[in-house]
Amino acid sequence: MSTGRNTTIRDRHRKRIARDQPPCGICGNDIDYTITDHLNPMAYVVDHIVPIDRGGPDTIDNKQAAHRSCNRTKSDTMPDEAPAAAIRVHETARTW
Ligand SMILES: [Zn+2]
Repeated sequence: MSTGRNTTIRDRHRKRIARDQPPCGICGNDIDYTITDHLNPMAYVVDHIVPIDRGGPDTIDNKQAAHRSCNRTKSDTMPDEAPAAAIRVHETARTW
């Protein structure tokens, strides 16, 4: 197996991404990189564009900045893992 779980590389990637201070790759809003509380839902986290457990590489090309809350929402709603009942049908405002 590869060294996909090398935390040193992860930490380097995390800092590399934070240096550019990009907006959240999931919701598109700015991230406050001064938040140091990792439990803060608006805190900066590294999101894997293709999740590791879905075969995504642990490379910087597969990483983006995200809010903690956005990252959690994304991982909670993986389409083929979410039970059907959890997928909420969008309520459409019909005028007819
Ligand atoms: Zn976000």
